[in-house]
Amino acid sequence: MSKANILLIYTGGTIGMMKDSDTGVLKAFDFKYLMERIPELRLLDCNINTIAFKTPIDSSNMNTSYWADMANKIKTHYEDYDGFVILHGSDTMSYSASALSFMLENLSKPVIFTGSQLPIGDLRTDAKENLITSIQMASLKKNGVPLIKEVGLYFEYKLYRGNRTTKINAEHFEAFASMNYPVLAESGVHLKVNHDFLLPANNKPLIVRDQMNTDVAILKLFPGISENVLQSILNTKKIKGLVLESYGSGNATTEPWFISLLTHAIKSGMHIINVTQCAGGSVSMGQYETSEQLKSIGVISGKDMTTEAAITKLMYLLGEDVNPKEFKQIFETPIRGEMS
Ligand code: ASP
Repeated sequence: MSKANILLIYTGGTIGMMKDSDTGVLKAFDFKYLMERIPELRLLDCNINTIAFKTPIDSSNMNTSYWADMANKIKTHYEDYDGFVILHGSDTMSYSASALSFMLENLSKPVIFTGSQLPIGDLRTDAKENLITSIQMASLKKNGVPLIKEVGLYFEYKLYRGNRTTKINAEHFEAFASMNYPVLAESGVHLKVNHDFLLPANNKPLIVRDQMNTDVAILKLFPGISENVLQSILNTKKIKGLVLESYGSGNATTEPWFISLLTHAIKSGMHIINVTQCAGGSVSMGQYETSEQLKSIGVISGKDMTTEAAITKLMYLLGEDVNPKEFKQIFETPIRGEMS
């Protein structure tokens, strides 16, 4: 069987950073050093090529243009490679993995995001394991075709569906969780793939959807939120969609001003998505009195989606100019395995 061809796309993040000797601050450094730091990569049973962002970034500077750049790089090199590994800062990795899952329609090859908590040069770095195993995961084939056909995120021995993940820890090597979907694969003595949880094959040609619309916002509810705050967000010029992080199974205050502001916004054409601020579980509007009205005024259920997946799906659907009448129904339908 022929060796897998893997393209590494280096965007930045701790994995490729070095300490500035004067200030001690972590700064991105030239990608060619990354390859020098991991000679083990040459031992892998695959062909690896690398490309990098012109200027590597800390992922806190991630934006929709960088997402479009990543998606188009994959499209440009799609036929020449069996899999893609994106090296990315962990801070916004779940947003990027979610965004790319929507932007890459009909994906039939692996796109695996990875990074690290410690720089590659650090003695105790987690970068080597994350990078090497991500490449191995991206190289897996069955009957000559890639086994994984979706956007994944690999960190600390686990491969997750990218749009199901959230960064949960700023210090632990186990920095990500996928609360509402099982891991796709695990690395131990053997690589164990959970075949039943992978997205099925799609033999249509890859289409890149890179018109993400940024006229969106996220609002996390808290006891004591004022009418002024909600009003100013809903009145922000141009905002077309809002992800509302509600309590528990999709609950919110029943105060009349709250419901009335939301009703008015929805009637004026704004899309309001209800996701839970709990780490796991699902929105189920109508279960409690405190979510019944949200349902009746036309708030969209984000079900068990992460906030990261909800905001990027919103940007994607707004960018695609989906018919407003069908928006709710399309949003509530899983399109890349992002909701159950
Ligand atoms: N600040 C870094 C980033 O997200 C952290 C990391 O790489 O893990 O780019």
